[in-house]
Amino acid sequence: MIDQPIATKKRTREIQDKWNASTKKSFGQNFIVEPGVVDKIAKSAILSEEGVVIEIGPGIGALTQFLCEYGKQVIAFEIDPRFPKILETEINSDHLQIIQQDFLEVDVNALLEPFAKSNTPVYFASNLPYYITTPILFKLFEATQPIAAITVMMQKEVADRFMAKVGSKEYNALSVITQYRCDLKRIMDVNRNVFWPSPNVGSTVLQFTFKTDKPAIDEAKFVALVKACFVQRRKTILNNLQTWLADKQKASQLLERAGMEPSLRAQQLGVDDFIHLYNCLIELEQADH
Ligand code: SAM
Repeated sequence: MIDQPIATKKRTREIQDKWNASTKKSFGQNFIVEPGVVDKIAKSAILSEEGVVIEIGPGIGALTQFLCEYGKQVIAFEIDPRFPKILETEINSDHLQIIQQDFLEVDVNALLEPFAKSNTPVYFASNLPYYITTPILFKLFEATQPIAAITVMMQKEVADRFMAKVGSKEYNALSVITQYRCDLKRIMDVNRNVFWPSPNVGSTVLQFTFKTDKPAIDEAKFVALVKACFVQRRKTILNNLQTWLADKQKASQLLERAGMEPSLRAQQLGVDDFIHLYNCLIELEQADH
């Protein structure tokens, strides 16, 4: 039981005053000041006791404190040099290891390798700095070592794009590429007032788990194809493919082989349709050789 949660307005202010640590906008610092929210993130993030939890951006420890309560080993990466000392003192848990580093500079595969070797599940948890939500997530998605789950707070608008269904206005290349790699679960929507300082937009906690039954494809090429189809949303996939392939005839042949109408637009194609289109492209290229 945590009797003095850091995630309250009063405690956050006390810690900031004591350590003379005002929030820095440039590092995307919006601290959670509602204990129920961090409790739910920590409980959802840690899927089994024997796992290790990696937190990105612990700040002054609102979520970290709960991760250390429910997890046996927590590794927290923080860019701001003022925070490690604060975390060590205010949380004072032997479950916690703090690394002062820009997470974008971390070699994720090297970080994960020892856990893969010992079959220890790895759970990522974070109230992400919003200015680098997508680069951080893509860094994790591209890791080749296993990650059991990623549970993260982000802007609601970005979460809606990750979760978007085919045909909706939020559906884009990010939705397709993410849904191809991961199963997604919305843990909760969060009001902007649970943060200090409060951002201008609402937030959402999403959980990503990796699909184990993905088809074996050249991911870089698949990603390039999906992005190319969405380059000009209003244009047909035929138009977009003509530009990407720099070959009008090949683009028409590809759609014909895939059995897709040339009038279709990218937002009308589901993840399986994109995989089918990709497979047809590979077949077409092999037939050309
Ligand atoms: N976890 C705390 C909470 O929920 O109250 C703070 C979350 S705040 C939205 C984001 C945190 O990420 C800040 O502490 C910020 O300094 C840190 N941060 C920003 N960029 C980072 C980076 N590139 N690598 C590691 N931490 C970063």
